[in-house]
Amino acid sequence: SSGQGESYLARLNPEQRAAIETTDGPLLVLAGAGTGKTRVLTTRFAHILLTDRAKPWQILAVTFTNKAAKEMRERVSLLLGSPAEGLWLGTFHALCARMLRRHADYVGLTSSFTILDTDDQLRLLKQLIAPFQIDTKRWPAPGILGVIQRWKDRGLTPERVTDSEDSDFADGHCRAIYKAYQERLIQLNACDFGDLMLHVTEILRTRPDVQAQYQRLFRYILVDEYQDTNTVQYLWLRLLALRPGEPANICCVGDDDQSIYSWRGAQVGNILRFEKDFPGAEIVRLERNYRSTRHILGAAAGLIAHNDERLGKTLRSGREDSDGEKVLVVGVSDSDHEARDVCAMAEKMQRDGHSLAEMAILVRAGFQTRAFEEKLVQSGVPYRIVGGVRFYERAEIRDALAYMRVLNQPADDLAFERILNTPKRGMGPAGVQKLHAAARSRQVPLTEATRILLAEKVLKGKVGDQVQALMTALDTTRDILAREGHVVAIEHLLEESGYLAMWQADTSPEAPGRLENLKELVRALADFGTLGEFLEHVALVMEHDENAGDARISLMTLHGAKGLEFDVVFLPGWEEGVFPSQRTLDEGGNSGLEEERRLAYVGITRARKHAMIFHAARRRIYANWQDSMPSRFLDELPDDHIIRQEERDASLRGLRATESVFAGGAPLVARRRRDPLAGNTPTFQLGEHVRHPRFGEGIIVSADHHHVDVAFEGVGIKHLLSSFLEKL
Ligand code: ATP
Ligand code: MG
Repeated sequence: SSGQGESYLARLNPEQRAAIETTDGPLLVLAGAGTGKTRVLTTRFAHILLTDRAKPWQILAVTFTNKAAKEMRERVSLLLGSPAEGLWLGTFHALCARMLRRHADYVGLTSSFTILDTDDQLRLLKQLIAPFQIDTKRWPAPGILGVIQRWKDRGLTPERVTDSEDSDFADGHCRAIYKAYQERLIQLNACDFGDLMLHVTEILRTRPDVQAQYQRLFRYILVDEYQDTNTVQYLWLRLLALRPGEPANICCVGDDDQSIYSWRGAQVGNILRFEKDFPGAEIVRLERNYRSTRHILGAAAGLIAHNDERLGKTLRSGREDSDGEKVLVVGVSDSDHEARDVCAMAEKMQRDGHSLAEMAILVRAGFQTRAFEEKLVQSGVPYRIVGGVRFYERAEIRDALAYMRVLNQPADDLAFERILNTPKRGMGPAGVQKLHAAARSRQVPLTEATRILLAEKVLKGKVGDQVQALMTALDTTRDILAREGHVVAIEHLLEESGYLAMWQADTSPEAPGRLENLKELVRALADFGTLGEFLEHVALVMEHDENAGDARISLMTLHGAKGLEFDVVFLPGWEEGVFPSQRTLDEGGNSGLEEERRLAYVGITRARKHAMIFHAARRRIYANWQDSMPSRFLDELPDDHIIRQEERDASLRGLRATESVFAGGAPLVARRRRDPLAGNTPTFQLGEHVRHPRFGEGIIVSADHHHVDVAFEGVGIKHLLSSFLEKL
């Protein structure tokens, strides 16, 4: 009705209205952060329904996250005044899963197919690799899986992979392995995440009848965050939208300045090609930002202006209330102060009348959340982790904690069972059963039973050797614990047990993050006097009731914050090597750096009223303090829109000056403790050339304690024990 019409269109500006009322034909809304792109999509959805252009199930709406899908469903329901059901509204993967269930038989699956997780994928792949007799040291399974996933991101079935694509990886067997992997998945009536898109796209490509059916069904297609679509998603959209003899009713909204997923195969070029791909396309630009104050926008705009590869857009504040507060840039002495200051500031903002629900702490990398979680728990500030697992609940952290628990309390059977076969030591369920039986009959803990079975040679052979190595690692660690304290001891244990090596050998995309988390865990240990104190603290943090109160501050990565908004946004860790990330700096070149800068732009533009950026002069890496440089992005923020504030605690600064000489001292030599197994190991200088038995030649990029970081050609940065390196 016209009454409704007034209420939902009247609240839009003329450009937004144009974007909504241009219902037919292809439309690209290209606009900066907070200009109402998502709002346009949602309102367009409602408009199509309210003007009887389509039924709810005839609109295909793609969001980037499940959270965004839920929000859009709610917004549409609100606009319609009734709950919206039966909608084709969700993420690419969710929508494809639904389609694939309907047509599973076309690719040889049944509609009850299972979706494998990464562990399953790897297990399967390893079995398949064996007959190819490739050098698995050089080409480990996770790396091969990575190649397969990238092919899937590009819509390449094994048949579509060309010879030239296949040549270099896994001695040229990668395509054959991919083929075997796909065949095996079908036999198992299973598919992996990437297959959801790939299979459906392949069905649409090869079955004109199915394609026509969906083209008839979806009268309108709406896509949010278009700048982050990858090739297969793009192909899928085109297959659905390009209808013979009819206009492509596809509306995509996006912002090239917020393209932050190129590492997952996203092609910002999709946005640039829109007019060519969809003939007759109209382009609407929105320039008024309704989210942020003028100062926040000014800071964000000044920053992103440093990127070269941009389409260029105007962005001005649509909020007429006032200029608002300037963006605060706070320099603190160290990372502990940073966490404390952020918490204190959040509490102050709460006293000033801001709800915690309207505040967020946005970090560059997942491992950074731990320090904040702990300070929040200590101060009793309710929080939630968005789009991630709480630090101490992550798999690698639970593993490492299990190692610590066994050390602390040998009778901790649960913990022992967890570490016994992590990393793999050939102890299958049957072996563990035997141990349990022995423990029961002798009324001793599992660790004790293990020792007995080893001594009695019941546990022998290769498995026996590996389990013996674990027990020896525990024993030597106990000595070190007594002599050198818990931090060194735990480093030793994670190393000697082979646990760290397990992740170092893992080339999956998650592995570096897991290693960073483990580093962070060891770092946290240093805050406590004993291992027992630390474990008790962890138990308390893990107990912390997540449901205390409704309003909670959000803690998440910048990637996870895309599309969201908060009154108050805290942006910690703006230091070289954290943000921009060390990996980006190591890779060199401008494109990685520009992506980091876009991520910074996403961060600042999440804020409605207050944005506060933090950088620390020192950060703890493992148990050592390391000086850090303020992020280059801080220099790029225009002075007119920010206030710089240094922590004025002189005593702390004095402390810093003396300690930093010690921690970051000029010759960067790996200060080593004596390693019982390593013998006479060399020290390394920054920039020195070395050879590793597995990764080949590399260059030392940092050295701390008895570890070094080495950059290897084609492998990346590895964190290693210096004892395995040979000087060149
Ligand atoms: P992002 O690029 O971060 O995804 P966006 O372009 O999708 O941002 P929205 O989230 O749709 O922007 O809108 C930002 C904020 O501005 C929201 O709170 C929205 O309700 C509000 N808004 C959008 N358009 C208007 C308008 N015409 N009048 C008032 N508020 C508006
Ligand atoms: Mg949006």
